[in-house]
Amino acid sequence: MISSLVMLDNEAESDDQPLVEYWVIAFIKPRRDKRYFTYRQFLAKGYYEAFDIVMTFAEKTSNEILWFKEKRNCGKEFQGKVIPNLESICTFCNKEFNYNEPIKCNFKGRSSTMCSSEFCSLKCKEEHFYFKHVRQGR
Ligand SMILES: [Zn+2]
Ligand SMILES: [Zn+2]
Repeated sequence: MISSLVMLDNEAESDDQPLVEYWVIAFIKPRRDKRYFTYRQFLAKGYYEAFDIVMTFAEKTSNEILWFKEKRNCGKEFQGKVIPNLESICTFCNKEFNYNEPIKCNFKGRSSTMCSSEFCSLKCKEEHFYFKHVRQGR
């Protein structure tokens, strides 16, 4: 559902092919008790491709899209911000998901580098944790 999609002025398009770059989409997820505001990022080549991706996402989910724009035009607070990808792939079951907030492993082993795996569900996280961090850790 798109109720108040703001069309933002993009910088004057030149004749050059648009570059592939990160875009940020802001939307509200309806929940039983409250509305949940969140961001996602995705790669697109120019405004029209970004628009298509946003429309597809809006059709697939019941989220209310607020705005989308190039990440570099989003202001300083966005530049270093870690934003989940619009289409995430579960490290464990390889399913694509974009509705749920990705669940992170964040396990710190002896190498002290944090595990960056992302999951679609708590179950996948537990399975991953067992196979990757418990069993192999012995
Ligand atoms: Zn999964
Ligand atoms: Zn892990």
